[in-house]
Amino acid sequence: ATPSVRRYTITLLPGDGIGPEVISVAKNVLQLTGSVEGIEFSFKEMPMGGAALDLTGVPLPEETLLAAKQSDAILLGAIGGYKWDTNEKHLKPETGLLQLREALKVFANLRPASVLPQLVDASTLKKEVAEGVDLMVVRELTGGIYFGKPRGFSTNENGEEIGFNTEVYATYEIDRIARIAFETARKRRGKLCSVDKANVLEASMLWRKRVMAIASEYPDVELTHMYVDNAAMQLVRNPKQFDTIVTNNIFGDILSDEASMITGSIGMLPSASLGKEGPGLFEPIHGSAPDIAGQDKANPLATILSAAMLLKYGLGEENAAQRIETAVLDTLNRGFRTRDIFSEGNKLVGCKEIGQEVVKSIDPKV
Ligand code: ATP
Ligand code: MG
Repeated sequence: ATPSVRRYTITLLPGDGIGPEVISVAKNVLQLTGSVEGIEFSFKEMPMGGAALDLTGVPLPEETLLAAKQSDAILLGAIGGYKWDTNEKHLKPETGLLQLREALKVFANLRPASVLPQLVDASTLKKEVAEGVDLMVVRELTGGIYFGKPRGFSTNENGEEIGFNTEVYATYEIDRIARIAFETARKRRGKLCSVDKANVLEASMLWRKRVMAIASEYPDVELTHMYVDNAAMQLVRNPKQFDTIVTNNIFGDILSDEASMITGSIGMLPSASLGKEGPGLFEPIHGSAPDIAGQDKANPLATILSAAMLLKYGLGEENAAQRIETAVLDTLNRGFRTRDIFSEGNKLVGCKEIGQEVVKSIDPKV
């Protein structure tokens, strides 16, 4: 029997700067992968960020949010640029992205960091340490000290000004991020390391207790725990020991940036933001790169790999995701490089051309 065609609606939010360039390439890659895998995508392109501000006066128009919510997954390019940097807060492109994340209730941020064999020289670490690194940071995104109350400014008993914030985690917040982390580890190499500061912080003590409780639902995943100071050290000392890392908002903010620097290739790194139900948001970790926008110099591979995450974590289409990842590796193996990852002996190409090469790797007939 021939398997039936699966249909999905994807909202594309190209945004600003290099956003439209990398999204256009990633869309072609998705479309072709779909046709090979028996998936039919219907794409809906909507304005967002600075582009939306110029068009409608707000960074996240209602129609854009509605389309996003009604779709199966969202692929975003990048937002922001010098032009809007002096805008008031509610009229900044970045505010639109915060509003979108909030409306979608995406509480889990997944950021892989892998050192590809072809790009091992880009790593900030020694070759022996960097080679073979392939890890994923699962960061809690909507709780913890960035949102906890009370917060603010006050004065102490000496009349001196103080600033204060509060780290708060409720059981349900830990349980739901833990489940996403265990599911993620299950789709990878089955190892999960929970990072906390349970020797000092009560919120971390509860974190560790709940992660251990949820572990009983995932007997096939191997769980370990690590204090955050040690984790920061281990990430540069021996990053190969990690498969999946789960941690709170602030520790995840820091550790995921640290992990991305290990790879040294900002133009290569994707991300996913997931909620309990509803569509996930997938985007490269880099910004709008206004310095190279409109010049066909951007590396679209981070966005193409975000599309692969969209397939794997957003739609459960693991074979299609694998096909894209393999095509990216094949393109690098054939020596194609954008400027940001270029090294001697390879072929320097632009955004469109490396996209075409990924397309050829997926289907040589194209
Ligand atoms: P953000 O907008 O998230 O604050 P940023 O402004 O700090 O990010 P980026 O916009 O990511 O930083 O750009 C940082 C540098 O990396 C720039 O020089 C930019 O040209 C380069 N860069 C970023 N993304 C890419 C890419 N996809 N391809 C090539 N170069 C890139
Ligand atoms: Mg920027």
